Amino acid sequence: MSNQFQVGIIGGGLAGFCAALHLNKLGISTILWEKGEYPRHKVCGEYVSNETLQYLDYLGYDPFSDGAVRIDHFRVSHWNGDITETHLDQGAFGLSRYVFDHALYQLAIKKNIEVQLQTNVTGYKKTADGFEVKTSNNRTYQCNILISAHGKKSNIDRIMDREFFQKDADYLGVKYHFKYEIPSNEVSLHNFETGYCGVSMAENKIINVCYLSTKSALKKFGSIEALEKNLLWKNPFLNDLFNKGENLFSEPKVISDFSFKPKNPVEDQVLMVGDAAGLITPLCGNGMAMAIHGAFLVSRLIETYFEKKINREELELKYASTWKQNFKSRLDFGYKAQRLFGKKNISSLALKSLKVAPFVLPALIKKTHGKDFFTNGLPGKDFFKT
Ligand SMILES: Cc1cc2nc3c(=O)[nH]c(=O)nc-3n(C[C@H](O)[C@H](O)[C@H](O)COP(=O)(O)OP(=O)(O)OC[C@H]3O[C@@H](n4cnc5c(N)ncnc54)[C@H](O)[C@@H]3O)c2cc1C
Repeated sequence: MSNQFQVGIIGGGLAGFCAALHLNKLGISTILWEKGEYPRHKVCGEYVSNETLQYLDYLGYDPFSDGAVRIDHFRVSHWNGDITETHLDQGAFGLSRYVFDHALYQLAIKKNIEVQLQTNVTGYKKTADGFEVKTSNNRTYQCNILISAHGKKSNIDRIMDREFFQKDADYLGVKYHFKYEIPSNEVSLHNFETGYCGVSMAENKIINVCYLSTKSALKKFGSIEALEKNLLWKNPFLNDLFNKGENLFSEPKVISDFSFKPKNPVEDQVLMVGDAAGLITPLCGNGMAMAIHGAFLVSRLIETYFEKKINREELELKYASTWKQNFKSRLDFGYKAQRLFGKKNISSLALKSLKVAPFVLPALIKKTHGKDFFTNGLPGKDFFKT
């Protein structure tokens, strides 16, 4: 195997695989390193905005062929059981990461993309015409462009000494799959003290139950189970779900120590995509769409770079500005909206206001979701000339 590629990609989540598949379609030689394996569960609400569908189709993947469920209704509940709901105009689909990430991996293999599993990127250095990348199996690779799609928290952040790394990292994410009766087309968000819990259906009638709380709350109650009993179960919907539903996991999937503080989309000439570029609060249900959209943006710009229409410096500047133009307001809005959750009086007031003026809820949802980015950016058109 050659160790020389035009593009190297760190991380095989949605951002990494979508970029690899896109670059492969453009005939750009690409290698992707992933420290884990597939299939595997991941802490995530597994609700994917429909704004990704046309692009996934372009990449050769149809989530409905793997049993994805259509979602077009949203419900939000308060601690005391008060509910507000609305129709989702754009809609979404439910698909587990166990199936989604594995399907993209299999597609990449089918397209003969070089994918190295169980391979941790342990370092990189800049060279005259790109990067030299070191991996945990003591190999080195050369690439002209390096994309890092390493997710919300990785050794890469430490290597780069990224500023956000130690800040505001008190968050805790927990996920289960349940058997429980809910309408298949509904995603719901349930408030509790310190956080909120999303519930929606994925393939095979699996119910995704995924919540965000804090490490401080975990410390206070001593265990995940005690945290749930003392906080989540106070919400009548969650109480019913945890007591009557059947938990399909032997243990919860848990992640902690991540931050929603702003990051830079380009660090040390490395192009960041997905959560590595910026983590949106899960409340918005849009991190996956942003990761997939980011892969589209970076691939289109890399295409223009290899066509010699822009140089490396222009590539970095254009990517950073395009990324911010597309995502910054969503991230800011999500961060502000999240502060309303987990605080009893504020979230109660917010829910009461939404009940009085229900038309506000769809407008708020629009602020966190994007348009179908692929329709206006078909390959061949000069998408960035706006
Ligand atoms: C509690 C919670 C609920 C969420 N719910 C939703 C939701 O319902 N809808 C939604 O759209 N978004 C949701 N999100 C956000 C969503 O999960 C992320 O935005 C999305 O997974 C980002 O994809 P990614 O490809 O950037 O990163 P990831 O999917 O995290 O992939 C990164 C990959 O990089 C690999 N990696 C890391 N470092 C290295 C290294 N050094 N070498 C090799 N490989 C490496 C990792 O193993 C991993 O496979 C949620 C997030 C949280 C925390």
